[in-house]
Amino acid sequence: MAWFRKEKKPRQPRREKHEIPPDAWDKCVKCGHTDLTEKFERNLNVCPNCDHHRRIRAIEYVNLLLDEGTSEETETEIRSTDPLGFPEYPQRLDKAVSKSGDGDAILTFTGRLLELPVCLGVMDFAFMGGSMGSVVGEKIARLGQKALERKFSLILVSASGGARMQEGVLSLMQMAKAAAMLSQLAERRIPYVSILTNPTTGGVSASYAMLGDAILAEPGAVIGFAGPRVIKQTIGQDLPDGFQTSEFLLEHGMVDAVVSRKDLKPTVGQLLRHMSGKPAATGWTAA
Ligand SMILES: [Zn+2]
Repeated sequence: MAWFRKEKKPRQPRREKHEIPPDAWDKCVKCGHTDLTEKFERNLNVCPNCDHHRRIRAIEYVNLLLDEGTSEETETEIRSTDPLGFPEYPQRLDKAVSKSGDGDAILTFTGRLLELPVCLGVMDFAFMGGSMGSVVGEKIARLGQKALERKFSLILVSASGGARMQEGVLSLMQMAKAAAMLSQLAERRIPYVSILTNPTTGGVSASYAMLGDAILAEPGAVIGFAGPRVIKQTIGQDLPDGFQTSEFLLEHGMVDAVVSRKDLKPTVGQLLRHMSGKPAATGWTAA
């Protein structure tokens, strides 16, 4: 009965499992496409399958738009002082500062874009929903002042839920302040390009975001003043498909172009050259 006898083999040590780090793969929230995280990142956080533009941080736009080694951050020390004594606002601010690593919901820089000198402000939704309070308004005003003095073009990248509730009317005043600064730029023929990202709503959409000499929007961004639910309740009608998206606004003449993230830099560069009357550079290549 030898053939029933089981020969005892020494146990082989288990092959070591190849550990896959949990963040090696990523999934698109829009279409469910799963791919290497690295591939999403290389594609500027745009889904390679459905072109869904994920939200990215302000500093990523700065790196995307400005030529390497030319950027210099400005007005880094301005902080909100809780002027209205709004309950729990200082704690919320502290939390936002430690979570985002930034002082408020906008970063401002001077630098060069395809060799053209620019003043660049980028809002960050990660800081209290990109809400616009007195710090955001003041930083934009000072950035605009720099653009005026140095005759640099101005670029603002918006991402905001609107005015900052905790600063009440002081937030709303920033809308007028920014608009006044932009009219000075317009008088002096200094170009201003506004870039709208997801979402650009509320007080921001009702002031500087919509006042660009050229207004560009990333694909699929939600852009509008009030949300669709509020509008639906107010007018008592169903809203059309795609209402308040970049593409809808383009169709209705509210934005000049819908531009993919990878094309933002060359597009802005070309626009600024046209607007500032500089001859088109023969050498620029799409980044
Ligand atoms: Zn996708």
